This record gives sequence, C-alpha cells and structure tokens, in this order.
Amino acid sequence: MPSLSRRSLLMASAAFAARPALAAVTPSGGPLDVVIIGAGAAGIAAARRLAAAGRRYLVIEATDHVGGRCVTDMTSFGVPFDRGARWIYLPDSNPLIKIAPRRGDIYSASLSRKVRIGRRYAREGELEDFLSAQVRATRAVDDAARKADIACAQAMPADLGDWRATVEFVLGPYNYGKDLAQLSSFDFAKAAERRSAAFCKPGFGALLAALAQGLAIQLSTPATSIDTRRALTVETAKGSIIATVAIVTVPTNVIASGGLKFVPDLARRIDPFARLPLGSYDRIALELVGNPLGLESDDLVFEKSNNTHTAAILANVGATPLCFVDVAGTFGRDLAEQGQAAMIDFAAEWLSGLYGADVKKSIGRKYATRWNAEPYALGAWSATVPGSQSVRRQLLDRIADDVWYAGEAAHETLWGTVGGAWESGERAADAVLRRLGPVKAPAPAAAESEAKPKHKAKPAQAERRVPRYEAAPRTYEGTPRIMREER
Ligand SMILES: Cc1cc2nc3c(=O)[nH]c(=O)nc-3n(C[C@H](O)[C@H](O)[C@H](O)COP(=O)(O)OP(=O)(O)OC[C@H]3O[C@@H](n4cnc5c(N)ncnc54)[C@H](O)[C@@H]3O)c2cc1C
Repeated sequence: MPSLSRRSLLMASAAFAARPALAAVTPSGGPLDVVIIGAGAAGIAAARRLAAAGRRYLVIEATDHVGGRCVTDMTSFGVPFDRGARWIYLPDSNPLIKIAPRRGDIYSASLSRKVRIGRRYAREGELEDFLSAQVRATRAVDDAARKADIACAQAMPADLGDWRATVEFVLGPYNYGKDLAQLSSFDFAKAAERRSAAFCKPGFGALLAALAQGLAIQLSTPATSIDTRRALTVETAKGSIIATVAIVTVPTNVIASGGLKFVPDLARRIDPFARLPLGSYDRIALELVGNPLGLESDDLVFEKSNNTHTAAILANVGATPLCFVDVAGTFGRDLAEQGQAAMIDFAAEWLSGLYGADVKKSIGRKYATRWNAEPYALGAWSATVPGSQSVRRQLLDRIADDVWYAGEAAHETLWGTVGGAWESGERAADAVLRRLGPVKAPAPAAAESEAKPKHKAKPAQAERRVPRYEAAPRTYEGTPRIMREER
C-alpha cells in the first residue's frame, strides 16, 4: 500500500511554488517571542500574522510535513489526493481563497447531489422528499437547541419515513463525523450553514502548504510538555524551547489523551478538550479506470440506506479517475479499526451493490486513510459532547499563563473546517500581539501586507494582565442558524 511521504507532500506544495521555501530555522540570538505548536491551518495562519508583525516566532511540527488534517498526497495516485479537507466552504468569505497564490486553481463545487436507490438514481419527487426530510430534521434540531443542549438524535422528528437513515447519515456522520446521538444540538445549530463550496485543483492541502512557504517551521519536532512555572518552556524530542508566549494548535484528542502535557496541570482547563472529542471520518480512495460509475467530475452521491452501513461518493475527483468513498461516525470508526484492507473491501462491495459487480474490475490503485490512528490527530474534527454547550467559548480564552489555544475546535461557527482553524489562528495571534506590545527592533522585511494585525498593539506592561482575547473582526462569514443574540 503506498504511504504518505515527505516527498509527495513537497511535490504537492511545489505545484504552487511561487518562491522557494525557506529552510525551517530556529531563530538565534535571544529568546523567541512566540512558539507555535503545530503547523496545520491554525498554526500557519498564526505564524503568518506574527511574521507580518515582525515578531520572533517558531512553529514546531510533530510530523515531517505541514498541513495537519489538510494535506495533499501527490504520489499515491499520481494526481492530487486530499487525504483530509477537500471542500473549501463559503469561498466568498473564506480567508484562504482571498490569499491563494493562484486564484485560477480554485473552481466552484456544485452543491447538487444524487441519491442512489439500489441500482437506480432517485427520481425528482424522491429527491424532493429527501430534501424536505432533511429540512424538517435540521429545523427540529435548531428548535430544540433554543431550549436545551441535547443530543441531536433526541430532537429527530418522527415523520422522516424511509429517509430516516439517510438523513441521519448526512446530518451526523457525513457533515460532522459523529452519529446524531453523540452530537450536541447547540453545536449543530451554531454551525455555519455550508451553503457554498469550492475546490482547489492542485488540492486543498497543496494550497495550505503554499501558504506556509517562507515561514519558520521546524518539522519532526513533537512537543511533549509546556511548563509555565517560570520562563515558558516547551519540551520537545530535540530539546527545550523558551519563548515569551505559546500558541497551541494541537488537536483536542491529542491533548485530552496526554499527548501534550501542561505543567502545572491544567485540570480546570483540560476539561474543554475532553468535551470536544474528534469524530471519525475516513476516505477510501479508489482509482476507477474508465469511469464505470458513469458520473461527472466531482459528483456527490449518497445512498438511500436503511442502516448506518453507508458512505458518500465523490466521483471523478477534479476530473481524474479518483473516486472517494467516505465513511464516518461509529460505523466508519469500527470499519477503520479493522484496517485498510477491510475498508477497501467494504468500498468495493458497497459500490458493486450500487453499480454492479463490474466496478470491481475497474479498480486500480487504492488507499484508505485512518485518521483515528494518526498519533498527532487521533480523529477527524471536534464535535461538542451534548450538554457542554459553552465549551468552545472556553477555548477562546487564554488556557494558561501566556498560553493560547487555536484550531478548528476554537471556533464557534466554523468548527471542523480549515477556514475556522485559520481564523482561530489569526485571532490567537492578534491576542498574542496585544499581549507582547509593540516590536522594539525594526520589523523584518518579510512581513506580508495582507496579514497585518487589525488591532493596534498596546504597551507590554498594560497588556500583561489582559485575561481574555476578544474576537477579531470576522473575515469569514458563515451564517449560524442560531445567532448569538437569539439565545
Ligand atoms: C478526512 C477529513 C476530511 C475533512 N474535510 C474537510 C473539508 O472538506 N473542508 C474543511 O474545511 N475541513 C475538513 N476537514 C477538517 C479540517 O481538516 C480541520 O478542521 C483542519 O484542518 C484543522 O486544522 P487545525 O490547524 O486546527 O489542526 P491540524 O490540522 O490537526 O493541525 C495541528 C498540527 O499539530 C501537529 N501536532 C499534533 N501534536 C503535536 C505535538 N505534540 N507537537 C507538535 N506538533 C503537533 C499535527 O501534526 C498537525 O500538523 C476534514 C478533516 C478530515 C480528517
């Protein structure tokens, strides 16, 4: 089975290379202003903000590549393969689109979807029934969330008929990586409606990698602990790093499982991480030679199912022979635990059931992700445990003296997305800049104008005791189904 290599990822980012990547360096001569832990979307966004402000920062990344859960693999199939994030939601306001090096690589994604009922597609009237059942279910959860934070499953209307399993798959595992029984109605209702989307031809991960070029990033350097008792010290496998402040962007599951320790222990603060566990979402990618499904480029297909053993198809991805069979939620987690071979078998059997046994003969190269087993991710993206409604807001606060958290989990409406992680990284960087005050030495020329902090920095002494950071002006507007004022 092919594996993700540093070479394949470099090739993906090279697709964008507008200027040569700088070697990651540890700035020398004095302590760092900021150490950023993790080079995913949040870490990259924070680093760009700090670089633009002329701050001395270093990003340390556990793996041998940047991107985290948004990464494009170029070698497994010889065409861009987004192992994680693929959909660029709300492109009109998505911060990554605004600064994409080559706008011509971005193209709109159709939001229409097909539904397979056995060996045929749903007819117009059936599709209308399906969409209407989805709307009723969504509305029921939104209504429930106005009264209490319960599991979405408890709010499901009784009249979903034979569309129930399909609606439950789409609203739970497919959209949020969790079964509705494990999904908070409040989190669901606050999530921005994903009413438009785009794709990036060389891959979403390749776009993110291009945006990381020129930043000071040290790869293959897992952090093991952050000690804030005296000088803020981050312990890594390669030695200690001292900085004035830290931005932690490590996925919640990694922190909750003790993969990154805080000294002193953040007993009170650790709780939010445990209450934001990552759901399960994996991608079984198959090269289907000769378009045996007869689908168009980037067609999205669901199955009308009567149980949870189902998946979503994204066909002929980016006009290539690549077909994604995405599995998620409890079923996806159980399947992934059985290993890649079992996942690929499932996808082949399932597709054969929907399109005929000949599909199997068309399968060329294949690969299945297993995000729950990736030690520096341990899952797909966060979803609040029912009853923990305010937990994301706690992560907007400082999590310890001079330590901020950023990442998809720290966004109240765009959680679980790259755009949300990016905004969260920028917001944490703005808070850090306010805490640090003005730069004393002249700023390096590398600053990038579009990433200038929006807040005027105040003197360091005055900022020292600022307990929270406020939300930066929103640049990426999703529309939460329940606005804060309504609650
Ligand atoms: C299969 C899948 C499909 C998805 N689809 C979409 C989609 O279509 N659209 C969308 O917008 N979002 C999607 N998402 C979600 C999206 O990928 C994430 O929300 C986003 O990438 C998270 O960014 P982040 O910076 O918060 O975290 P991450 O990307 O996880 O970055 C954290 C970084 O920290 C590093 N790290 C972890 N521990 C340590 C340590 N101890 N020391 C140093 N470094 C460490 C990790 O290696 C990682 O690079 C998908 C996710 C998955 C898994």
